[in-house]
Amino acid sequence: MTRRRPKVFKGIDASPGICVGLVHLIDRRKFQVPKYHVRDEQIEQEQQRFRTAVATSIVQLESIRDKMAGRKRQDPQAIIEAHLLMMRDEVLVAGTEKLIASQAINAEWALKNTVTKIRQVFDNLEDDYFRERRSDVEFVGQRILRNLMGHETEVRGPDHERAVVVAHDLSPIDTAGLSRQKITGFVTEVGGKTSHTAIIARSLELPAIVGVENILSQVGSGDRIIIDGYRGEVVLHPSERMVQQALVRSQGLRTRAAELISEKAKPAETRDGQRTRLLANMEMIEEIPTALRYGADGIGLFRTEFLFLDRRPPSEGYQRRCYQRILRQMKGRPVTIRTLDIGGDKRLPFLRSENEANPALGLRSIRLCLRVKPMFLAQLRALLRASVDGNLKILFPMISCVRELKEAKQMLAVAKSQLRAKGQRYSRKVKVGAMIEVPSAALMSDALAGQVDFFSIGTNDLIQYLLAVDRHNEQVAYLFNPLHVSVLRLLKQVVKNAHQAKIPVSICGEMAGNPLYLHIILGMGLDEISMNPVALPYARHMIRNSSLKDAKKLTRLISQINDSETIRRTVQEWMAERFPEFFTKDGRADILGGL
Ligand code: PEP
Ligand code: MG
Repeated sequence: MTRRRPKVFKGIDASPGICVGLVHLIDRRKFQVPKYHVRDEQIEQEQQRFRTAVATSIVQLESIRDKMAGRKRQDPQAIIEAHLLMMRDEVLVAGTEKLIASQAINAEWALKNTVTKIRQVFDNLEDDYFRERRSDVEFVGQRILRNLMGHETEVRGPDHERAVVVAHDLSPIDTAGLSRQKITGFVTEVGGKTSHTAIIARSLELPAIVGVENILSQVGSGDRIIIDGYRGEVVLHPSERMVQQALVRSQGLRTRAAELISEKAKPAETRDGQRTRLLANMEMIEEIPTALRYGADGIGLFRTEFLFLDRRPPSEGYQRRCYQRILRQMKGRPVTIRTLDIGGDKRLPFLRSENEANPALGLRSIRLCLRVKPMFLAQLRALLRASVDGNLKILFPMISCVRELKEAKQMLAVAKSQLRAKGQRYSRKVKVGAMIEVPSAALMSDALAGQVDFFSIGTNDLIQYLLAVDRHNEQVAYLFNPLHVSVLRLLKQVVKNAHQAKIPVSICGEMAGNPLYLHIILGMGLDEISMNPVALPYARHMIRNSSLKDAKKLTRLISQINDSETIRRTVQEWMAERFPEFFTKDGRADILGGL
């Protein structure tokens, strides 16, 4: 037998955790729907066939729901209830029956047409949970179709323990149902952080990686697999050594994480009394409980893009309710919500955009918002209206010059006056900040500082633009270096300019959550650090076991070195010496992945 070589796949880290297991393959990609016309005398029989399939689907769903009753997690049950409601919906049932008769077509064909029609209605619904979850209607349609065609409706659970589900896509019910059968993790080919699998995996605290391209064509059931939900990495056919390393890393991380989480109430204060605010980066409201459990002092960056990825822009009312939920759940802790940062490679389905030669440098982010003013104003009004429910800070992304910042603030003033005209309340205490993520903004941060209440440094884009390294391009990833001399110089300058203007400055790019850079960040004097919630307990622990004086020594030391490689070695040795637990001997940060 030929030995299979380990193969590493990269995906999106949708839910943290590490597991080693055997693949349980599920491939339920869409099947061909038969389409044919029926004779008049067959119509009644066709309608009956459809009614039976719906009734069977309802019984199946009720039985799944009943089996789940009493479980602590409510999310899957709520989704099943929603699916049951759809199964009893007049438009779906009576609509399909009508179509069978009026078009003289078979039940499958009629159902397919009805589902398409309903989907369009869902797409146009405002302020509805279902509008976000419009794929639910697809899953409902698929279930009835499978029952019509005699296909298996439930995904088969694994017959082995510690199974890792690998699928093209999974419905929420698949995911929830499977999790009961000792599944230890999920990998899907499609999806992002907001896909059902991701949401439910996070709520079940099982590791998940989504968006792993083409894995299905290369795995078979029973293949050995490692998934690392911290690094967004899947290893197929791992060597024995890799398995042992993963198990050790997983066990160590879990035990240590639990210990560190238990210290969450202790302040992030250095031994010599310097306090730093530790904040969470997030994209979805569902992540808030985890952030709080991990000890977030607030939200340092809430990316609102995920509210906008639908076919239509979210309404002001819907946005207000989302922002309100965030602020209420954070109970007065500071919450920085960033205005829409989209465009370029992340296109909005409802905005026609030109094909740009350099999308990262194109009409995106604040530039796009200033162009599509009604959409921007609606977001600002929604934010302001929600502001009475908590401690809101508004953050403008991708600012590249003073004029842009002034224009954004002008829009905020317009939004306020519109609210006043309608007698709608907003908090007068809302602070306004600028992201420093374009080199021009960093270089002239002294001029920008006078315009805002705070800065937030986005190192992901700052490094991309400063070093001319596409942050999404694997081929040049080796050049993406937070320890590049120019990056360090620029960070230092931004902090100095912010402090001279007496405004606080935070850092929220991925660099902020990497423990290797913690002393640089402390030593440079950043006031707040915002990171992936799972990194928070580590940062708190390390800060409490550091001194500001010592960290400053490191920043002074590296400011005298002009070679990035030497800087890296120096920092690695420095951190490994102080925190041997978290770094390998050669100084690699061995927790939470890293850059
Ligand atoms: C950044 O650019 O560093 C940042 C935090 O924003 P995003 O990753 O969303 O571009
Ligand atoms: Mg950015």
